[in-house]
Amino acid sequence: MRSRTFLIDGQVDARAIAAEVVRAGGDPKTLEEHGRVVAVTATLDDASTARVSRLPGVSRVLSAPVAWPKVARRGPATRLVEVGAEVGAERVAIGGDRPVIIAGPCAVESAEQLEACARAIAACGGRLLRGGAYKPRTSPYAFAGHGVAGLRLLREIADRHRLAVVTEVLDPRDVDAVAEHADVLQIGARTMSDFALLRAVGAVDKPVLLKRSPSATLDELLHAAEHLATAGARDIVLCERGVRGFDPAARNLVDVAAVPLLRMRTDLPILVDPSHGVGVREAVLPIAAASIAAGADGVMVECHPDPGVARSDGPQALTLDALPRLFAQVDAIAFAVRLAPSAASGAIAAE
Ligand code: PEP
Ligand code: MN
Repeated sequence: MRSRTFLIDGQVDARAIAAEVVRAGGDPKTLEEHGRVVAVTATLDDASTARVSRLPGVSRVLSAPVAWPKVARRGPATRLVEVGAEVGAERVAIGGDRPVIIAGPCAVESAEQLEACARAIAACGGRLLRGGAYKPRTSPYAFAGHGVAGLRLLREIADRHRLAVVTEVLDPRDVDAVAEHADVLQIGARTMSDFALLRAVGAVDKPVLLKRSPSATLDELLHAAEHLATAGARDIVLCERGVRGFDPAARNLVDVAAVPLLRMRTDLPILVDPSHGVGVREAVLPIAAASIAAGADGVMVECHPDPGVARSDGPQALTLDALPRLFAQVDAIAFAVRLAPSAASGAIAAE
């Protein structure tokens, strides 16, 4: 007899699964998410486990308790995160067949700067505009963003170009203002484990982009995602953005292996941010390409009309004329990966 967790996929009635567990002599404990049972745990023998695992809706059986059941992989498909419905723009799907590219400046600096970025992104077929209105900065003396004025600019300029807005929220007190203007709330690397922030963001009904801290294990990242899910977040996207390395040649060390290793564990969409990952403009396209080849659902990059005068992260910002190459390259590699799926999507294994 061993403890088993049956993960449930789809809209099945979990009572039939719990009833079968009871028939087999088990005592089912259910885990709910948004009023739906997503897992049933019980101690069963092997024959009963096999019987229950074949019931409709049971997508996976875990033999060890999983610490993040709400974000654990339930089935072969990636959970689609649809973005942008509320602004009247067409919805963009993160985690679907086509990779997404989120692009924009590190910080919203001016209407002219953001307008130039948005126009260039839209011209490439981009759908998602990023930009910080609240900037986490290492130095307390550095430019920390324009706050609500930056949020308004993001919304106004994104709407003009039919783009969705991705922007960071740093402080639980700003969550409502950010949610009012943004389509995706970003939790940055520095606040990945700020549990008050995770709770506040999770309680808002908006997609969340959760970045990995440079010192977090994948398990800690998935725990942070579970905090969001427990607080009510339905749509969570993970983002690898480099871990702390030893070589100052790069700002961080992009953990490309995190993509397949996360894939095995979770069916949440996975992005990579090569800009903060490498910190060197010339390396951003190659690492974006490597990320898509590793199976990422997309990338997030920083760009600027004049990186030399950027108020933050200029050295890693792509110039706007590099964007068409980025978009073309990401599409071409994603196409190649689909033709040879074992290259990047063979990593979906059991526990
Ligand atoms: C950002 O994407 O704006 C950012 C600050 O990145 P990170 O949290 O990964 O450092
Ligand atoms: Mn930045």
